[in-house]
Amino acid sequence: MRSATDATLIHNGQVIDGTGAPAIPDGCVLIESGIIRYVGPLRTVPPGSESAVRLNANGGTIMPGLVEAHFHATYFNVAALEDLDIKYPVEYVTLLAACNARLVLECGYTSARSGGSLFNIDVWLKKAIENDLVIGPRLATSGREICGAGGLMDWNPEFRKIGMEGLILLVNGADEARKAVRKLVKDGVEWVKTYPTGDAAAADSNDHHTLCMTFEEMHAVVQTAHNHGMKVTGHCRATAGIKNALLAGYDAIEHGTFMDDETLELLLKRNVPVVPALYFEMMSIERGPEFGMSQAVIDGHQETLDGGAESARRILAAGGRLGMGGDYGFAWNPHGDYAKELSFFVNYVGLKPLDVIKCATQTGAEILGREHELGTLAVGKLGDVLVVDGDVLADISILQDRKRLIAVLQSGIIKSRCGVSCLSGDAVVS
Ligand SMILES: [Zn+2]
Repeated sequence: MRSATDATLIHNGQVIDGTGAPAIPDGCVLIESGIIRYVGPLRTVPPGSESAVRLNANGGTIMPGLVEAHFHATYFNVAALEDLDIKYPVEYVTLLAACNARLVLECGYTSARSGGSLFNIDVWLKKAIENDLVIGPRLATSGREICGAGGLMDWNPEFRKIGMEGLILLVNGADEARKAVRKLVKDGVEWVKTYPTGDAAAADSNDHHTLCMTFEEMHAVVQTAHNHGMKVTGHCRATAGIKNALLAGYDAIEHGTFMDDETLELLLKRNVPVVPALYFEMMSIERGPEFGMSQAVIDGHQETLDGGAESARRILAAGGRLGMGGDYGFAWNPHGDYAKELSFFVNYVGLKPLDVIKCATQTGAEILGREHELGTLAVGKLGDVLVVDGDVLADISILQDRKRLIAVLQSGIIKSRCGVSCLSGDAVVS
């Protein structure tokens, strides 16, 4: 990805550095050649910055670019889960994914960790973003997701004779789990996404208390993935599924919904981050009837929401780590609404805005494994910055309004202004 060659001084705003530290009033950030050179009060900005291009925050907020920690670029706002594997060919899904990548950047998210990808689109999307062919977040890729046969993602009945090669790798036993991971090695993905448990969405056969993989399968996935330098995460709602994932050596937990004391202790001991993705549940409850969800499904989502909110509060209060990612890409929870997850955690779950921003920046970068270069505003890190018109600590919902995102920068280059992307320069095709 291109880096700025000049210097930019972002000034006239409070600086939130992403570490959870209080905001610096009347602060500024100086970026030179794409790297942050100064963060602090404007009055002590180092000499030589006078020649920098000035970017005025209008008395608002200067903060790190956000990190979407559970991003599905390839989920195209589907109204029915089956649409994921039968509605469009890979060619069209790839184009939709590129649009979603641009959109998430326009929404202030300069990085994203994938929660699973159709076909092997993530890997190639990342290449296109890194080569400046399309704009989008710095992406940590996933590939086709792994699920036990008969589990949550194995929804096509046999009589349809439909393969699910683009969506999921179905496994029976540890050997097949290893084989599936080895396919992903060849694809070049960074994260292996698995389905240890079911979900309220499949109330009839794979509800949120059902296990969809055995411990042996999960352990085989982790051993194989770690051997090849890949990380493993999983859709974990049932307590036993979360526990299995932690014991098997998972690197992150998606959702982490129903957590008893023993599981929480295990989570904290291994310091594994959790990405709850809870606003999705709220939207499923509110908009489910519009999309034909049964009462049993909606009741399940309510139970998930209550359990997930309680677990999120306990994890953070006990010193654990939460990432902010929203599982966007469903008709009732569409792309573009990413920052609603942050408002939801403040207003419904009851977390402090500064803590939620830390989850969405510093912890997000840690989940990507790139905390040394992303996630906080600190000297030496990449100039990935979000400039917002307004005080996001007083009203975090400002982040939902793309028009109020004065600028989104990656490596010191303005990629989007007021929610509209700036495409410039010649792409490097290689
Ligand atoms: Zn997901």
